[in-house]
Order: sequence, then C-alpha cells, then structure tokens
Amino acid sequence: MSFEVSQYLSSIPKPQTNFACPICESVQTYAMNNHYHDSYPYPNYLSHGERVKANYVCLGCRTHNRVFFIYLDAASKQITKVGQHPAWTIDSDENIEQMLGSHKNYLRRGQICESQGYGIAAFAYYRRIIEEVIDGLLDRIPALLSDQEKEQYQAALERTKTTRVAAEKIELVKDLMPPILRPNNMNPLKALHEALSEGLHSQSEEQCLELSEVIRGALVFLATQINVSTAAANSFTESMRKLLEKKSGRS
Ligand SMILES: [Zn+2]
Repeated sequence: MSFEVSQYLSSIPKPQTNFACPICESVQTYAMNNHYHDSYPYPNYLSHGERVKANYVCLGCRTHNRVFFIYLDAASKQITKVGQHPAWTIDSDENIEQMLGSHKNYLRRGQICESQGYGIAAFAYYRRIIEEVIDGLLDRIPALLSDQEKEQYQAALERTKTTRVAAEKIELVKDLMPPILRPNNMNPLKALHEALSEGLHSQSEEQCLELSEVIRGALVFLATQINVSTAAANSFTESMRKLLEKKSGRS
C-alpha cells in the first residue's frame, strides 16, 4: 500500500482490496472492519512510528478474515506491511509432495516467494530442490523407456553419479528423454538445464522470477508425469499378466 501517512491514526485510509477467499473459493473484495486506533486511548492518536492491526473480512461470505500488521513510517511517509495471518499458503499436490519428501517445504517457500515477487529467493529455493531430488528423479526414468532406450540411458545415468552438480547431471541425460516426458516436443529437462545454467549472477528479481517459473513448471511436470506414467504402466502390466494367466489356465 502506498499513500501518505496521515498524522493521526483515525484519518489513515482503509482501502478495500482483493484476495482469494478459501471459503468462497474465488477472488473476493475484502474490507477492513476495525479501526487502526482500536487499541489506543483516543482516535486521533499520533500515527508516526506506530505498528497497527488491520483486520480484513471477505465481503462475499463475511466469514473469512485476514489480519495484517502495518508499520506507519513517519520518516519515509510510508505504510509497510510487517506481518500477516494466515500466511500465504499454496495448494499442495500429492505427486509433487511424494517426490519431494522432506524437501516439500522448500517448494512451499519458493512458491510463497514467487507470489510475493521475490524472484531471487524463489530461484534459490527451487535450485536447492533440484539439487536434492535430481538423482531420485533420473533414477525413475528407466521404467518409462523401451529396452533399447534403457541401455543408452543407463550408461548416461551411471555418468551422472560422477558429478554433484545438478546442471551437469541433467546435461548428460536430457537428450534421452522418452516422448511421454516431452510434451509437444518440449523437453522439461532441457528447460531446467538452461534455467539452472543462467544462475543468479547479476539477474534482476524479474529475471529470476521468470527462471523460477520455468524451474517450478518443469519440476511439477516431471514429478506428475513420472508418477502417473509409472502407475499406469504398472497397472497395465499387472492386468495383462492376470489376463494372460487366466487364458493359459483355460487352454
Ligand atoms: Zn469469502
């Protein structure tokens, strides 16, 4: 929020604002339903340097509320949000969480940074995730390859164990992806490799934000697709096996 800080708490604006409401399950207008001076002895208390509470309630359901803590800065004449409840949360996804295991908090934090426009921080979280899960991710790909493809991939996979750098690991296997992991001929591993190679060096928040989106998108796609394809392949194999057993038992 940016408007000039008024001298008195009672005359500071209380603008309405939009948030996603989890009860209405849509974006709703929220309005402030308290006074900045509620916990002060009188309404025209001097505002400068005070930390006040703003309680916003959804106008759709009149139930869901968000509380913000705001610092009124006299020197810079600015209003700064210094805290909020509930914290920004991000929907979880079973496929991703299963793959990330104990690193799933990094994904949440990365998404929170992304939602706030902190690209450098988001990039750092996502890069850490890739470093920690890349081995497990690459190890699951052979299940989706034909025997012929598998041989070539396994040889490259062995070589990935000789480096600890995620971008180098990806470089070794990125051109051996099965079509099921390359939607419309776009290769998520190649995208990951490019984004990670760009690195954080002298990139702006905006540039890092774009790279972060690429990394998250590729990661989410790979985790989901590998899980779903592996499960589908397993269930298909199992049902075919049963079918064939039944058939041979009959004959
Ligand atoms: Zn609502």
